[in-house]
Amino acid sequence: MAKILLNKSNFFHNLELCSKQAGSKDKIAIVLKDNAYGHGLKEISQLANEFGIRKAVVQDVEEANKIKNLFDEILILKVSQNMTYSHNFHITVNDMCEIKQLPINSNVHLKIDTGMHRNGIDPKELEVAIHSIYSNNLNLTGIFTHHRSADTLSSEFFWQKAIFKDIKLKAISICEQLNIDVPNFHSANSNALFRDNNFDEDLCRIGLAAYGYMYKFDLCKNIALKPILSLWTQKMSSRTLKNNQAIGYGGSYIAKEDMEIGTYDIGYGDGFLRVGEHHDKFITKDGFKLLGRVSMDNLTLDCQDDEVCLFDDVKELSKIHNTIYYEILTSLKPSIPKEIV
Ligand SMILES: *Cc1c(COP(=O)(O)O)cnc(C)c1O
Repeated sequence: MAKILLNKSNFFHNLELCSKQAGSKDKIAIVLKDNAYGHGLKEISQLANEFGIRKAVVQDVEEANKIKNLFDEILILKVSQNMTYSHNFHITVNDMCEIKQLPINSNVHLKIDTGMHRNGIDPKELEVAIHSIYSNNLNLTGIFTHHRSADTLSSEFFWQKAIFKDIKLKAISICEQLNIDVPNFHSANSNALFRDNNFDEDLCRIGLAAYGYMYKFDLCKNIALKPILSLWTQKMSSRTLKNNQAIGYGGSYIAKEDMEIGTYDIGYGDGFLRVGEHHDKFITKDGFKLLGRVSMDNLTLDCQDDEVCLFDDVKELSKIHNTIYYEILTSLKPSIPKEIV
């Protein structure tokens, strides 16, 4: 059976680097949305807990419920209908109209749209929003924003930061007037954390860097993150291919000589994205060639080993697919078994 191995010491290494950059473990909120970027929600949560991470970020309450005993604070990015609440859940307010829908005493993090124009309230609505949260008897525990270009060398990162700084000052003064606790402020994802050598926010939301990747290293010094996920597949059958015989759908690989080949038990149905006509660009970690197109549940390699590591790093694959690391990783289906090594 195909499987995912998770390298615990690499994960701890990445968490150590992030904690150092942030100033402490307590400032790290590990982002676990989409099955922990395909790595396995349960497995990554347990490891993060063992390392000493106390905060997490998930997409919805379903994910939050699965890990509620492992963290002190869980930020849920999306309100859903029929939410069940736990004392450690903190719900994101993405829109003014959500404030009235939340039950009394819910913890909320107010999201501010500082320029990404995806979610969050307009900065002009800050005062009205905080008053509305207060009068609806919700606990304002956080105020945050998200960068649209944390990985781009341009002024964008800085003007969003400046807007957020202004929000922070205003929010503190509004909270003081209302005599309520000042909430946590946060804006950084992985890239933003490593761009900022004087990180002074209350927490950062770390996804990609914890899993061992970063974009635009030149922006962020040379941070030696280590990917933690490797994808393994098992042989289903093997055969000898004669010179000129072709493999798989469309027969797109044609043998130039007699060769021993193996068929392996993974395909795009498992989330190993389909490599079609460009199959000759993909080589497994140990140098075996992909022969022909990837099928739904299997693929063929110029090898007959019982078990093969397809990759332990998605950088090359992301070039082949012309996409970002996030997409390669989150495509992996939750049903692939995980092992921690
Ligand atoms: C996904 C996400 C993050 C994590 O971003 P990385 O680049 O993976 O560190 C942080 N904040 C929000 C709101 C997100 O949706």
